[in-house]
Amino acid sequence: MGTGDRKPRPPVRMCVRCEVTTETPVVVAVVHQNSGPGFVVYACQECAVRYPPQRDVLTAPRPSDRTEGGR
Ligand SMILES: [Zn+2]
Repeated sequence: MGTGDRKPRPPVRMCVRCEVTTETPVVVAVVHQNSGPGFVVYACQECAVRYPPQRDVLTAPRPSDRTEGGR
């Protein structure tokens, strides 16, 4: 008891491009490291649109690979 008054902070991340903290971070890249867990690169929604798509084919299959039929 005692620390029940703390409110959880919103997931604020810093944009990797414009370096502005955003409350709506978008994952643009995931960096894997040999030692320890990797880290996720975030960008604000405005930058995420212009950010180049990931080229990781293993984890991100191309949407064009799915032939979506009309029916
Ligand atoms: Zn940004």
